Amino acid sequence: MAMRMTTDARIKIAVQKSGRLTDHSLELLVRCGLSYSRGKDQLICYGENMPVDVLLVRDDDIPRLVQEDICDLGIVGLNIIEERRLELISQGEKELFSEVGTLDFGQCRLSFGLPAGVPFEGPQQLQGKRIATTYPRILADYLKRNGVEAQIVAFSGAVEIAPSLGKADLICDLVSSGSTLRAHQLYEAATILESRATMIQTPKALVGEKARWLQRLLLRIQGVLQVKESKYIMLHAPRSALKAITALLPGSESPTIIPLEGRDDKVAVHAVCRENVFWETLEQLKEAGASSMLVLPVEKMLA
Ligand code: ATP
Ligand code: ZN
Repeated sequence: MAMRMTTDARIKIAVQKSGRLTDHSLELLVRCGLSYSRGKDQLICYGENMPVDVLLVRDDDIPRLVQEDICDLGIVGLNIIEERRLELISQGEKELFSEVGTLDFGQCRLSFGLPAGVPFEGPQQLQGKRIATTYPRILADYLKRNGVEAQIVAFSGAVEIAPSLGKADLICDLVSSGSTLRAHQLYEAATILESRATMIQTPKALVGEKARWLQRLLLRIQGVLQVKESKYIMLHAPRSALKAITALLPGSESPTIIPLEGRDDKVAVHAVCRENVFWETLEQLKEAGASSMLVLPVEKMLA
């Protein structure tokens, strides 16, 4: 049976229970080495090999759970974080959650959707208009920053039907492909927030063993994010072209140069590239004199 440590020494991470962020969030934790069993009620995943448990909740509740220190970490969209942050600030709250890092999923934009055929000529055009949204605070903040007064019509969902119901002139909603907008004869006119899944942390300082585990987990997350793009590249290079060739390696730090047995004119170059290596780069390397090129995926990385 797996050893279970005392509850308060365990890190609690809030993750969306079922939705667009759920699979990516759990996959990220698994790639950090976490194996878990899901509780009977399906609301908690108990970490079996690390003192880390995952609470499965509605995404809208995640900032509050973290801000109130019920969870130590949370994974949620920047759109939800910003809306809640502005709400807390307006209530005079000082102890907010902190953002620890942007993740590589959940990309979307909070944008204005205008009826097809109505051109968008800038924020001034919004003066006096009725705008339907589920993000009233982010929108109000944008309008204020642009010196525009408009009527915000708060919706709790299905914002895109507001214009055809005659309840709004335009909408401000999350968009990724734009197909929902198109299906409602709207188009994406301008973006006010670029959003991604983001990791947030409790405002309370962690201590002792728990703080050490958190540090470990955060380093592993960084490693996982880096690895996805990273490649290990090996090639042969004429000594005379070494400078030109290493300059072409994308996002690499000092490469390893290895002599080749019986060859004074050529060396082997090994390097970790922190960006993807595209065919174009390989072609340029070849032109610069490189040969025997190999590009390998990187499995794990720890700085
Ligand atoms: P919950 O039941 O947890 O409240 P939800 O319906 O509010 O779920 P989802 O639709 O699963 O939430 O979206 C979760 C997050 O995914 C959004 O807050 C946003 O950050 C991100 N996201 C990415 N693309 C889109 C999109 N096209 N539309 C809406 N959200 C998107
Ligand atoms: Zn939600």
